[in-house]
Amino acid sequence: MATYTPMIQQYLDIKAQYQDAFLFFRLGDFYEMFFDDAIKAAHELEITLTSRDGGTEERIPMCGVPYHSAQGYIEQLIQKGYKVAICEQVEDPKTAKGVVRREVVQLITPGTVMEGKQLSDKENNYLATITSFADGTYGFAYADLSTGESRVTLLSSMEEVWNELYATGAREVVVASHFAEELHQKGKERADFTISLEDDTTTNFLPDIARPLVDEKAKVTFARLFHYLVKTQKRSLDHLQPVQLYEIHQYMKLDVYSKRNLELTETIRTKGRNGSLLWLLDETMTAMGGRLLKQWIDRPLLQREKIERRLQLVETLLMYYFERQELRNLLRHVYDLERLAGRVAFGNVNARDLIQLKKSLQQVPAIRAVVEQLDNDNAKQLARSIDPCSELVELLENAIDDNPPLSVKEGGVIKDGYDDMLDRFRDASRNGKTWIAQLEQKERELTGIKSLKIGYNRVFGYYIEVTKANLHLLPEGRYERKQTLANAERFVTQELKEKEALILEAEEKSMELEYALFVSIREQVKQFIPRLQQLAKIISELDVLQCFATVSEENRYTKPRFSDNRELVVKNGRHPVVEKVLGAQRYVPNDCLMNAEREVLLITGPNMSGKSTYMRQIALTAILAQIGCFVPADEAVLPIFDQVFTRIGAADDLVSGQSTFMVEMLEARNAIVHATPRSLILFDEIGRGTSTYDGMALAQAMIEYVHDKIGAKTLFSTHYHELTVLEQSLAKLKNVHVSAIEENGKVVFLHKIEDGPADKSYGIHVAQLAELPPELIARAKEILAELEQPVYSERSLQKTAFEQLSMFVEEETPKEPPLSKKEKQALAALKSLNLLEMTPLQALNQLYEIQKLL
Ligand code: ADP
Repeated sequence: MATYTPMIQQYLDIKAQYQDAFLFFRLGDFYEMFFDDAIKAAHELEITLTSRDGGTEERIPMCGVPYHSAQGYIEQLIQKGYKVAICEQVEDPKTAKGVVRREVVQLITPGTVMEGKQLSDKENNYLATITSFADGTYGFAYADLSTGESRVTLLSSMEEVWNELYATGAREVVVASHFAEELHQKGKERADFTISLEDDTTTNFLPDIARPLVDEKAKVTFARLFHYLVKTQKRSLDHLQPVQLYEIHQYMKLDVYSKRNLELTETIRTKGRNGSLLWLLDETMTAMGGRLLKQWIDRPLLQREKIERRLQLVETLLMYYFERQELRNLLRHVYDLERLAGRVAFGNVNARDLIQLKKSLQQVPAIRAVVEQLDNDNAKQLARSIDPCSELVELLENAIDDNPPLSVKEGGVIKDGYDDMLDRFRDASRNGKTWIAQLEQKERELTGIKSLKIGYNRVFGYYIEVTKANLHLLPEGRYERKQTLANAERFVTQELKEKEALILEAEEKSMELEYALFVSIREQVKQFIPRLQQLAKIISELDVLQCFATVSEENRYTKPRFSDNRELVVKNGRHPVVEKVLGAQRYVPNDCLMNAEREVLLITGPNMSGKSTYMRQIALTAILAQIGCFVPADEAVLPIFDQVFTRIGAADDLVSGQSTFMVEMLEARNAIVHATPRSLILFDEIGRGTSTYDGMALAQAMIEYVHDKIGAKTLFSTHYHELTVLEQSLAKLKNVHVSAIEENGKVVFLHKIEDGPADKSYGIHVAQLAELPPELIARAKEILAELEQPVYSERSLQKTAFEQLSMFVEEETPKEPPLSKKEKQALAALKSLNLLEMTPLQALNQLYEIQKLL
């Protein structure tokens, strides 16, 4: 067996406990990595791989990063989903016997980062945990270590777990080892997170913050999260706030598909924030407000009083324009109190952080005053609950220098007058410095050398500098030579040395004392953490409310009202994001009426006419209302929806490895199984992914099922014009369509929704406009008429195709009169068009090309 040097042996012993992490092993001014870690890290971080002697024949692979720039490298690894164990020297190398003792002081993981670029201001960074119970239920908990927030819920299916995982966007998920493989299998397609293991779920020693949890399952779930945090962080977790138990039924249920389809917080195509509802709404002034806004969007409310409360506050803020501007200005200067509190607990705040804290708190009295002026009971109550933490402000004002350096160990942090002892040291050093400044004058007079200078450098300390030309003027004996320069000499005197010693001693002592004082202040600030967190909550809420008011004012939104009879009336409604992007002038507003007689709206209209925009606009209006924001409409009366389901085309790439059609069916199933009469369902072009009759049959069966068995409010868009006859058999189904007109020989989509089915010969109109041969048009009309026969034979069904609103008819070779060769060519070209993938403009261009054949 190989015998390694004691240090490498120490490395291996520690590494054995951190198999799944990069071990950053502190060696002097570097963190070194060895063996496989080194090879992998050199590759991931693009740093040089070297080797070192480790006592065995073969040299050991090694790479390292400097201690002072380690943060960036750690971030890179965490960003890639890895973990990093920080292993420090825990005794002074000077006094150590043998190898210096080393210990891992923190395990940094994707779900527990406290600082750095990965921690985006306006987003929470969640660590989640899942516990599966024998009865088939699950416990789900999550925490943001940087803000101290943690929540627990119990769920009844893995599907619900996925919804929560998606909603929280957790970067890391902690599970029992036996469950890890299962999650890995299921998880790799569905989310992007690191899986970590924690088997300890003992609940005996849970901290006070877990007291709100009574249920044993909730306790076990939280215990797993807590034990993992303790093991990885190895330090104070004082800032963790009391755990909140929540129930997903308190919120509007939005499954993963719907959240993505509706682009609530990210767009489907870019997965970015730009273009999402969150992007549109984000007029928050603080990072905390930004995070809360995202949480609100992720969880629309169900309880009417809670929604009304938010809406009333938004309404008040909207009316009080100047107060709102004032509030915005004040909030602009409020830093991230939640994360500052977290860093205080963690012990890694510096004096600049405390200045930020002070400046933030200094805004609070004015914020309270503004809110007090609002004539609204809820606002007054909010104002009363604002705690300005004045003792803390006073402490910080008195203690911390207004412009402190980054380092807390090199002085300049504590204000004069805060501590007597410190003042005395400072006086000593300042007096010494004044004495030295006066010395220059004295020495000049003494020697008669006008150019004599007193200076200071780190190596030699204070010195008297005399140019070579003047050396002869120096009296003998008093001056001791220290350093020779090109054309000057530097000297010290006994007197100067003594003063220097005094100054340096005073400076050293004052730095030590300053650091001790700073640590004690930090401890005092710790006592305020719960109050700061409470304050942060209220400020973030105010921020989101003013944000709603600001967005509503800017985009002319109105306050929604809620109906008790599940009626939905929207006048001049708009899709908030499309309207923003297109500009209000170009957006065509639309009404929507749904009630007991109009439960299912069947929407027909050509491709690109605005069907899916219309459907989304209704869903987004409902969601905006239930998060407490005004809505893009002139008037809106809405039911409170318990769930919103969507099946909308664009999400086809969602789950890799499954066919588009399968995804379509899975999403449809989700709605059909879970929807209630209080739900909203959007089905866009269901059945498009399979053959015409197959798809149409499925679409019809679904409509009938939703209509007869569920009774949810449903918007169903389709290009199967044949389905419009359902209006006759289904009492609560109504046809609506998107209108189009002919203008200067062009088809123009009006994007206007009107009652009744779409004009089914719309495609033939387009063909006519494109001046296809009259003969061909006539034939198309003939075929259409044939297809409209209520009963047609199986054979004729097979021969013709119901394509997208009959934009064309499939080639049907008539016996009489025979078509010319070119006409046949034109028909073949027509047949080969893939209309489902084309815009009307592309279609027109193609028609033009075809026409040229003739
Ligand atoms: P469809 O679902 O019928 O294929 P979309 O809803 O995708 O059509 O709309 C196609 C395009 O038409 C959108 O990208 C949008 O730019 C525009 N559009 C849709 N609705 C409107 C509207 N009400 N006002 C203005 N433009 C609209």
